[in-house]
Amino acid sequence: MRKFDIVVIGAGISGLSVAKKAAKLGFSVCLIEKSKVGGKFLWSETFPSAFFSEAAKKFEEIKSNRSIGLNSKLDFDFDFFLKKMNKSVVKVYEKNSPDELSRLGIKVVFGFPKFINKNVVELNNENIYAKKFVLATGSKNYIPNIEGLDSVKFLDFKSFFSLKKLPKSICIVGGGIKGVELSFALSVFGCQVALLEQNSRILYGFDRDVSDFVNELLEKKGVKIFNDVLIKKVSHASGKNIVEAVTDKKKVLVKSDHVFFAMGDLACVEGLNLPAAGIRFDEGGIKINKRCRTNVKKIFACGSVAGSRDVSCSIHQADILLSNILHIPKYFNFENVVQKISIDPEIAVLGKVEKDFSSKVVDSVKVYFKDIDACSYKCCNSGFLKVILKKSKIVGVVLVCREASVLINNYLFALGKNFSVLRKLSFPVPSLAEINSFILEKFEKKSRLKNFFIKVSGRF
Ligand SMILES: Cc1cc2nc3c(=O)[nH]c(=O)nc-3n(C[C@H](O)[C@H](O)[C@H](O)COP(=O)(O)OP(=O)(O)OC[C@H]3O[C@@H](n4cnc5c(N)ncnc54)[C@H](O)[C@@H]3O)c2cc1C
Repeated sequence: MRKFDIVVIGAGISGLSVAKKAAKLGFSVCLIEKSKVGGKFLWSETFPSAFFSEAAKKFEEIKSNRSIGLNSKLDFDFDFFLKKMNKSVVKVYEKNSPDELSRLGIKVVFGFPKFINKNVVELNNENIYAKKFVLATGSKNYIPNIEGLDSVKFLDFKSFFSLKKLPKSICIVGGGIKGVELSFALSVFGCQVALLEQNSRILYGFDRDVSDFVNELLEKKGVKIFNDVLIKKVSHASGKNIVEAVTDKKKVLVKSDHVFFAMGDLACVEGLNLPAAGIRFDEGGIKINKRCRTNVKKIFACGSVAGSRDVSCSIHQADILLSNILHIPKYFNFENVVQKISIDPEIAVLGKVEKDFSSKVVDSVKVYFKDIDACSYKCCNSGFLKVILKKSKIVGVVLVCREASVLINNYLFALGKNFSVLRKLSFPVPSLAEINSFILEKFEKKSRLKNFFIKVSGRF
């Protein structure tokens, strides 16, 4: 029986982070992968879709430059794009290939492992023992059980990037981050998009002002959005896919070249025989505590199989997990991780959103980019900065503007502190960062007013 300090199952971004860091720390590490090293991050989701969203954002940005006299004829060559993207994917893969990993001392093995008990997995008719196991098997696209689904060839991110040309029309089911990003990018490139959302608004996990902003933006691009939708049936006729649905008001019938499901993910746990090791899991994934430990002390989990929403969260979990394996107690906290929506303008969120609180508990201050001088030459005058406060302490930030995911990083240091900490920052002028002085001014005005009322009410 082969023995290792740490056996990591799943070589996506989460498993790779753990395996590489653990090897550097001197542990003997075995990395087990059922398919290709790189996971969804590299081959089907994060990297390819980030490439696609970036192309759409650039397209929009260049188009907006016309407002300052930069005229150019724009064209998107999907075939060229795919070749370039695939080359970049291979470059990233080469840095993480089994050979490169072996050079770091990691034993990479391919196959489907199965727990025999909490200490041992069976793989390719061999038993492997580990002092610690890390489960990083990721998640897969959730496909609902809808009448007629087997008669329709639907798309997911993997098959989307195997298309030879961009669709002329598409019905995207799911108005979360992924559905919204894809709707935006495809509409920018001239595709007719219908976006179907089961909740009363798209981006339901975000504050209403973010949903409303994106709703308006997408509708301006020609995206037809249907909320409160319940899909009844899908079918195929005369070369088109037909989605039949109902909303509270009416029947919806969408005919399009393609149907795309972006309704979220399901954890990949099948075949692992988790009950043999006594590991607790359900539809939402493997249950872990803040130290990334499962209910079985020696077994950890991280990444999308354990509820991480994106790569930054997965990498954060990988660090936390290793620290705990080293008996240095650390706890993960996704509030310090920026969440972004890759559209133009970009949306970035840090900490808590207003939706997380009752309105009595928090207060928020909001300023708009259209009021900033730099907007005229930056060619983007929509978007806003909203800072959420609890007793004058900054608990959340929502930023909607170009490069929002970069600009918001100023607030990483301000999170949890009194808003007056913003006085310490200085910003180049003119630049979009000026928005920070606007918000500080608004805070101070608000708190002066509050103090005044406290004083006045004290007199009576
Ligand atoms: C369209 C899209 C865009 C995204 N864009 C972003 C973005 O811009 N930024 C961001 O931060 N996040 C993004 N995400 C989220 C990100 O893709 C995931 O959070 C991340 O890929 C999760 O990594 P992971 O390693 O946990 O899982 P995965 O990447 O799924 O890796 C799991 C690995 O485990 C292997 N595996 C599964 N089961 C077994 C088994 N039984 N035995 C052995 N191996 C197994 C799989 O083959 C795979 O290689 C996006 C997601 C989607 C859907």
